[in-house]
Amino acid sequence: MKNKPIYLDYQATTPCDPRVFAIMAPYFTEVFGNAASRSHAYGWEAEDAVSKARAQVANALGATEKEIIFTSGSTEAINLALKGVVDMYGKKDAACPGHIVTSLAEHKAVLDTCKHLETQGVEVTYLKPDRTGRHSAAQVAEALRDDTLLVAIMWVNNEVGSINPIEDIGKLCKERGVLFFSDATQAVGKIPIDVEAAGVDLLCLSGHKVYGPKGVGALYVRRRKPRVRLVAQMDGGGHERGMRSGTLNVPAIVGLGAACELAVQELDKDRAHSRALRDRFEKIIFENLDHVHINGDPEHRVDLCSNLSFSYVEGESLIMGISGLAVSSGSACTSASLEPSHVLMSMGVGDELAHSSIRFGFGRFATDSDVDEAAKETIAAVKKLRELSPLYEMVQEGIDLSTVTWTAH
Ligand SMILES: *Cc1c(COP(=O)(O)O)cnc(C)c1O
Repeated sequence: MKNKPIYLDYQATTPCDPRVFAIMAPYFTEVFGNAASRSHAYGWEAEDAVSKARAQVANALGATEKEIIFTSGSTEAINLALKGVVDMYGKKDAACPGHIVTSLAEHKAVLDTCKHLETQGVEVTYLKPDRTGRHSAAQVAEALRDDTLLVAIMWVNNEVGSINPIEDIGKLCKERGVLFFSDATQAVGKIPIDVEAAGVDLLCLSGHKVYGPKGVGALYVRRRKPRVRLVAQMDGGGHERGMRSGTLNVPAIVGLGAACELAVQELDKDRAHSRALRDRFEKIIFENLDHVHINGDPEHRVDLCSNLSFSYVEGESLIMGISGLAVSSGSACTSASLEPSHVLMSMGVGDELAHSSIRFGFGRFATDSDVDEAAKETIAAVKKLRELSPLYEMVQEGIDLSTVTWTAH
């Protein structure tokens, strides 16, 4: 590709770290065995590699190896967790098998799985996040019912980077005897994760969000206090303790393991790097532009994320004006449509600011000069669009827009 834009969309996906790729490479060619082949060295070699990766993933979560199920990514892990819990613990032959509590700000993989479960009679409460995109344990507590099977609240939001109080929610769920699933796709490698301290029973992560390969992820399934059981959603050879049949993708699993190990080793370094870049970026933006809003919680926010709304500019024009930058307006999965982000809408951000929001992500391979160029382009584009905005002109003249009466012609 000619003149590739500067990549600042690390929440959508990350490049595979070259160190991870180097570790994966032999598993495509020389070490090609089927990890399920028990009768010869090719199989044993592959199985050893998978075991090592399982330990690396478990270690990144404070879990044990037997609690890790490899999947094709977070979407599959989410489907397995939610459907697997309902099938295992839901009331059979009842009009309503049970109840789930989740959030309007979840990723589509959770929301659409819940929608599917609703067609089977499951009742779902979709909690509205606060203005910063977070949920309190007290809010979750109010939604619990006698027939609640599961609470599904993400650890870190993919659009605004807000960090939920997972330990509080985990404690509540333990007290009330309700299973707790957390989508940690955006949390692993960004903040420390400990499933024990957090009281999480089920958790998912994805390789391509942590500098590993695409098409691989994992589901953590608690084995003690309580022992969580799931009904498999795929029938076949009974791989992964019967919970996920299908020949293991050994190279990708090796890559996921290596990526998780690096994420642990480099957590502090990655965080400091992201924080420095984001601070640099936001400082330049706020010094040069007025009427810019941070979406999300400025305090409880992962270091790499800066989701900003620019008043008095039109979102689509802004995205076109910063074509030298690879960023997202809202979430990458929905930016093909003109619908404003469901996350920002659920937070009560409002149509206009939701439409003019841009998500910047400053990940492992972003540099100071990327930041400076991104800030420069953004400032130029916003200023140019505002020059064309009659509203912005009125604000500059000191007119309070809330007092203006608009008439339609
Ligand atoms: C990317 C993402 C997913 C989907 O993960 P895949 O591995 O691509 O299926 C789910 N949840 C969140 C929060 C994500 O950021």
